[in-house]
Amino acid sequence: MTLTSPHSQTAQACLDQLSAGPGGLSPEEAASRLETYGPNRLPEAAGRSALVRFLSQFRNVLIYVLLGAAVVTALLQHWVDTAVILAVVAGNAMIGFLQEGKAEAAMAAIRSMLAPRAAVLRGGQRVSVDGTALVPGDVVLLEAGDKVPADLRLLQAHGLSAQEAILTGESVPADKSAAPVAEDAPLGDRRSMLWSGTLVTQGSGRGLVVATGTHTEIGRIGGLLSGVETLKTPLVEQMDHFARWLSLLIVLAAAILLAWGYFLGGHPFASLFMAVVGVAVAAIPEGLPAVTTITLAIGVRAMAQRHAIIRRLPAIEAIGSVSVICTDKTGTLTRNEMAVVSVETPDGVFEVQGDGYAPSGAIQPRGDLSQFARTAALCNDAALACKGGHWIVEGDPMEGALLAFAGKAAGGIDAGRLDVIPFDSRHRYMAVLAEAGGERITHVKGAPERVMRMCHGIDLPHWHDRAEAMAKRGLRVLALAMRHETGPEIDRDSLDGSLTFLGLAGLIDPPRPEAIEAVAECRAAGIRVKMITGDHAGTAAAIARQIGLENPHRVLTGADLDRLDDPQLAMEVVDCDVFARTSPEHKLRLVAALQARGLSVAMTGDGVNDAPALKRADAGIAMGLKGSEAAKEAADLVLADDNFASIAAAVREGRTVWDNLKKVISWTLPTSAGQALPIILALFLGLALPVTAVQVLWINLVSSVTLGLALAFEPSEPGTMARPPRRRDAPLLTGDLVWHIVLVGSLFVATVFGMFNYALARGYSLELAQTISVNTVVVLEIFHLFFIRNIYGTSLTWAAVKGTKVVWTVILAVTAAQFAVTYLPPLQMLLGTDAVPFADGLLIVAAGVVFFALTEIEKQIRLGLRVRPGKA
Ligand code: ATP
Repeated sequence: MTLTSPHSQTAQACLDQLSAGPGGLSPEEAASRLETYGPNRLPEAAGRSALVRFLSQFRNVLIYVLLGAAVVTALLQHWVDTAVILAVVAGNAMIGFLQEGKAEAAMAAIRSMLAPRAAVLRGGQRVSVDGTALVPGDVVLLEAGDKVPADLRLLQAHGLSAQEAILTGESVPADKSAAPVAEDAPLGDRRSMLWSGTLVTQGSGRGLVVATGTHTEIGRIGGLLSGVETLKTPLVEQMDHFARWLSLLIVLAAAILLAWGYFLGGHPFASLFMAVVGVAVAAIPEGLPAVTTITLAIGVRAMAQRHAIIRRLPAIEAIGSVSVICTDKTGTLTRNEMAVVSVETPDGVFEVQGDGYAPSGAIQPRGDLSQFARTAALCNDAALACKGGHWIVEGDPMEGALLAFAGKAAGGIDAGRLDVIPFDSRHRYMAVLAEAGGERITHVKGAPERVMRMCHGIDLPHWHDRAEAMAKRGLRVLALAMRHETGPEIDRDSLDGSLTFLGLAGLIDPPRPEAIEAVAECRAAGIRVKMITGDHAGTAAAIARQIGLENPHRVLTGADLDRLDDPQLAMEVVDCDVFARTSPEHKLRLVAALQARGLSVAMTGDGVNDAPALKRADAGIAMGLKGSEAAKEAADLVLADDNFASIAAAVREGRTVWDNLKKVISWTLPTSAGQALPIILALFLGLALPVTAVQVLWINLVSSVTLGLALAFEPSEPGTMARPPRRRDAPLLTGDLVWHIVLVGSLFVATVFGMFNYALARGYSLELAQTISVNTVVVLEIFHLFFIRNIYGTSLTWAAVKGTKVVWTVILAVTAAQFAVTYLPPLQMLLGTDAVPFADGLLIVAAGVVFFALTEIEKQIRLGLRVRPGKA
């Protein structure tokens, strides 16, 4: 059942060849064809193979240092050292490999959440199906912003154009129509076709699926669906870069240390070399890049659980730093569950009752609303369906509400559709030419001020007042109008001034309770929330009040915005929170104006024309349910539930990720310094090493990567949403951090030397003294971990002590490992350790407590000093 050159055949011929009808396939037929043709899917980009991923772990300075050291120790025939070093290399590579695998799996899971859906006719009913379920013969409904889900032969096109750059390289959208074109027309000129993967930029239409999956044009050239970007963000790159330079610096310093120790210190080369290798390994923060990546991956997963799907990883950083959120109203702040509650016609005012979208309910008082209902039902793209006694809408909920109303007012209404002017947020109305009983009528609905202007014989001031009054109640107001038509198409040029006004419909769309909470949360977090809506100023202000925006009293309309030039707009934009009757172009100007004021902006959008604003925003957010594919592709973040509360949740997670990165770094760098410094000092001062080289390798292997990793799983600290946003360009490596490294490094040196000398003074063997030092280092690292878990407040709370499951699992594992090397004879042989007496074990833990107390006191003083001069 393949079609040759569908573009050159008539639509009917294509339908016939695919044994399909204009009402689509029956659900059974579609299912059986799916068996035959397989899912409409392109092969995934081949990921990196496990082997390549494993080998890539060896591309880092630390591993080079270790491998070099292994060679040297082997030449010196120090086989135990060689074995330990190689074990460390393998261990490091394995951990990196597993972590990266987890991170990639998290991203792959996200990718599948972004699978597009398509509106199709099945058995004459409009239904929404997974893009992968399309089969040849399906009839697909398209509107501006849709991504074409398969190769389609157009059956109908109304002002349709598509952006086909991915296939033709042509960036100007191509106009489309249902008429056949020459058989030898090149791809870009086949106007009767829509190609899979291209974007509908304007208009609406219907198309017959003629090819799916790899048989589509894009499939044939091996094009790939654009998915989620890889795991690199500016921050990860910064970390990689930083870690690389730091490593090189450390290697250089180690070389100097080696030369110094050999030529000036007179140490024997073999033991000196091992000590220097130990220093280098201890100091290089090898876990940092891997832990950064895993922290981001965990953030991605946490956001996905809160219905915010990250498309571009840098957005994780951006969303955590936003200071303004510009949000749509309908469906984001409100439920987008609409109902017509009030109708005003020249005959009177009617109150409409009912439940949900059920097309039954009372209208008071009784009256003739048949013409009004007919227009409401026919100027409409939605469909109602009763599933399990519950009425649901396929399509726009506002249109669903109009259908339900029409059902209440007049019962079933049917007519053949001849022509359409699709709704466009720039002209704000929609018109449908329908024929019933030989009568052709153009039905129009849209924003009142727009539609009323097209009507004749209407008392404009009166009806403006009525619309205003409805809007003030928070109702969404639509005006309906009609005219008789003679031709088979709407005569677009003569519409103005020729319509007969039918009346106004007022629809409720209640605020989401969780959005009200989320707005309050954002305000507490120092984030200003602004509503940008295409709706009427009165309606917008009423909803803004109900939702709790900071300044609901001042409304700027699209017309106001047009009057302001950019500098004026930048002046006005900060204090105004409600923007009404805007078009998508205004969003771009608003983002730019807010950014000009130094703010970091999150912007939501759903339509194809919102794409530029989404791209420009610091965090572009698209709606997953009602958003167009065009908007999703431009966005950094997609909301799976279109809910404002999910934006607030994403901000919280974004802030948590940033904090956790900060914690990972604040733990790793001072710890690395603390491990290396005692050895360096001992070498310089010609003292016995408190920790041997092999022991340092051991500490690194068991503790650094594992303990640091626990911080990636930290939950949000209390008060995460009570702090003002961080500056977008705030660096991670701050003066505070440098001070922390110095402080912790010094405390490590003092404690380790203290314990070591105490042991020697008690007459313990060198092995035992070194074992005590090793355990001291690990205990300090654990206490440091608990300290770092709370950088904004005290660590002395039950929650802080209770920690997370990950923290305690890691600590138990590390403790068990320490007991093993301290008390198991084979490991004692390998690492040169000795059993530590119980009392000294307690002393080590006590040293950890003192270390913790000192750092905690320092933190309290630092935080106290910071809060006192005014509110931070
Ligand atoms: P938001 O930007 O918060 O989602 P919105 O959905 O009201 O708000 P638009 O979709 O731009 O924004 O709609 C602007 C106005 O156009 C609406 O207030 C309504 O009066 C009118 N309108 C919206 N959808 C339709 C439609 N399908 N047919 C006719 N008129 C419409």
